[in-house]
Amino acid sequence: MEYKVGLIRGDGIGPEIVEQAVKILDVVAKKYDAVFSYEEILLGGASIDATGEPLTEENLAKARSCDAVLMGSIGGNTSTSPWYKLPPKLRPEAGLLKIRKELGLFANLRPAYLFDELRKACPLRDEIIGDGFDMMIMRELTGGLYFGERKTYEENGIMKAVDTLTYGEDEIRRIAVRGFDIARKRKKKVTSVDKANVLDSSRLWRKVVEEVAKDYPDVSYEHMLVDNAAMQLVHDPGQFDVILTENMFGDILSDEASMVTGSIGMLSSASLREDTFGLYEPSHGSAPDIAGQDIANPIATILSASMMLRYSFNMDDAADDIDGAVKKVLEDGYRTVDIMSEGMEQVGTTRMGDLISERL
Ligand code: NAD
Repeated sequence: MEYKVGLIRGDGIGPEIVEQAVKILDVVAKKYDAVFSYEEILLGGASIDATGEPLTEENLAKARSCDAVLMGSIGGNTSTSPWYKLPPKLRPEAGLLKIRKELGLFANLRPAYLFDELRKACPLRDEIIGDGFDMMIMRELTGGLYFGERKTYEENGIMKAVDTLTYGEDEIRRIAVRGFDIARKRKKKVTSVDKANVLDSSRLWRKVVEEVAKDYPDVSYEHMLVDNAAMQLVHDPGQFDVILTENMFGDILSDEASMVTGSIGMLSSASLREDTFGLYEPSHGSAPDIAGQDIANPIATILSASMMLRYSFNMDDAADDIDGAVKKVLEDGYRTVDIMSEGMEQVGTTRMGDLISERL
């Protein structure tokens, strides 16, 4: 099989960590008889420096021509980088919002998985961690409060602001279908999170999720109010499989879930649309404070490449292989600085990439 992979190396630690993921993909290509060709795409600060814009039409067209895109991370130090003196539309993050919107990436997936070897990094007590947890936060990415009409105005001498939370049943249905499909590949449980006791948009969300659930009799589902979900994540994270939720709730809950794993350098993510195309990137940012030092943890990006194989290229065996190699490296006692603990051997970015590829 032949696939064209877009590479957004990005800013800060982006180029270093993407390099390690490419190393892994090259090993996978040989082992699984696949061909990956790479298309370099400029986005974020690197694009601003080269073209004056965070994402040009030419680079967007390149992304469109790919089967999937793998990204490092974009952005710089928001207090000191000259990119943040530019008008908001020309800043690095504007490029990211544009590419997600233009490519129709409506479903964001963020796994929160506790590697047994990293239990010590988890801020929860041992009895709460229990046998560990392995959940997938599925967040709607292109609707809701962040995309609704908004304005700030003055009325009778008082400043007021309004944001609008709108969802169409079509938008809810397509993410719910995706959520149930993914649950089917996992532990077959969906927890749909809303605020149906207060919000109309949540009542519609609940109704549509119930309709979709009828087509998945093999997948169990439940509704949970968002305030309860926030509590349950730190009370009993092991109960969750797929958490399906709208944009803003997902924004907050996915960050909470990643903190619960205690290791930001390990967390991958994917943004998908209805076909097999996806944009894959680590959950963390561009870490400008440690850029260029060969100390960043490349595992989140390597696991993002694994998600790309699983969700865009249907190469589940190769994805399992990568996930297994990462686990093996941790079992063998190797750690980057962010996940270092006593008695382990500290390694840099490049060495971690080498160690994982050796175990494939
Ligand atoms: P960050 O995630 O870049 O860094 C937070 C802390 O975690 C830092 O101390 C950093 O050194 C550390 N860290 C992050 N990733 C690491 C890794 N792989 N290995 C080891 N340590 C790691 O968050 P921030 O400092 O708030 O943001 C920096 C820049 O990244 C900003 O410009 C922000 O806008 C951008 N950002 C981009 C994305 C994206 O591209 N999707 C996401 C989040 C933040």
